[in-house]
Amino acid sequence: MNKVFLCKETAREETRTALVPPDIKALVAMGYEIAVQSGAGLKVGYTDDDYSAAGAKILGTLDEGYKFCDIIVRINKPDTISGIRENALHISSFDVFNQKPAIKEYAEAGIKLISLEMVPRTTLAQKMDILSSQASLAGYYAVVLAAAKLPKIFPMMMTPSGTISPARVFIIGVGVAGLQAIATAKRLGARVEAFDTRPVVEEQVKSLGAKFVKIDLGEMGQTEQGYAKELTAEQIELQRKGQAKVCAQSDVVITTAKVFGRKAPILLTKEMVAQMKPGSIIIDMAVKTGGNVEGSDPEKEVLLDNGVRIIGGDSLERFIPKDASNMFSGNIFAFLEHFWNAEQKSFRLDTEDEIMKGCLITSDKKIVHKSFIE
Ligand code: NAD
Repeated sequence: MNKVFLCKETAREETRTALVPPDIKALVAMGYEIAVQSGAGLKVGYTDDDYSAAGAKILGTLDEGYKFCDIIVRINKPDTISGIRENALHISSFDVFNQKPAIKEYAEAGIKLISLEMVPRTTLAQKMDILSSQASLAGYYAVVLAAAKLPKIFPMMMTPSGTISPARVFIIGVGVAGLQAIATAKRLGARVEAFDTRPVVEEQVKSLGAKFVKIDLGEMGQTEQGYAKELTAEQIELQRKGQAKVCAQSDVVITTAKVFGRKAPILLTKEMVAQMKPGSIIIDMAVKTGGNVEGSDPEKEVLLDNGVRIIGGDSLERFIPKDASNMFSGNIFAFLEHFWNAEQKSFRLDTEDEIMKGCLITSDKKIVHKSFIE
């Protein structure tokens, strides 16, 4: 098992590619044979010639690639499994919690499915973690986008023509994206406040020079994997009340509050948004998993009558496809390297390995992941 095929993404809004030429060169040196679907890197700025120079074979169609390979690599779940051979290993992000019928389809077709979002968040697997690599870029970009849309500047400026006060930025949810958003907003000179339900986050917020908003929600904590626990309806109500004043005073609110595998909580209600200043910007980075903001839309920007703009900030890393692809590709490279058997010159599907156990969803015509075995 050493033949890898890189597919061209089909979704119009997808700008990234799952493997970049420098990583392909290193994989070829390791012993992998690589084919690339023509045009796979064009939106990022990599031509077929760049891939050829790195040692890949260029194939014109998806079907040719499926016939050539044992391992299929792409960013997103494809629309159809048509043409994928039995026993092929399919590696991509997959949005598994929302794709239960598709998981069954992959199992029945005998396709071995790896969902990269399910790679465990352990120290060893850190370099394979697409959630972190993409979220940190998205967090950066959310701030850059807000700064471009806001009718005022971020830093304080004292000039003979007048003094400009710094923009006030409130970040709700301080995981990977939130931390990067805080750091970026601070670098641009904003006054930054942040809140997260996991108590351990307070120190991290302070170390970035931002203020932690204190809201007492009673029992909170985090799961073993470091994820937030789901709040009760009463706790969500307390949080909304505690945040309302900070939102009303902020020029920018960026929400990233997600609960792994579940719907995101609504943290900004219509009433809270109505209290915000005209011209303020809200970016809801949890929009795809239900949204943190009432009225946010993944497809479009919403300008409300009170002059507040709500931006559905899903997959913002797609606006910076070069770095996003380089990092995603680095994650896949690390995965393929970790499971490389140098003696047999083959990918080793080691079902006893903790990383493999975490992200292998189907194998041997069965659903094998413990979270999805019904
Ligand atoms: P995520 O995308 O699941 O959620 C984003 C943030 O929203 C989290 O910090 C979460 O606590 C917060 N949140 C959830 N509900 C909230 C609410 N009601 N109000 C405010 N905030 C709320 O999280 P993530 O960015 O993927 O990171 C999750 C955790 O995983 C973090 O602890 C992170 O440090 C950890 N992590 C560990 C590793 C590793 O060890 N290799 C790698 C990456 C992340």
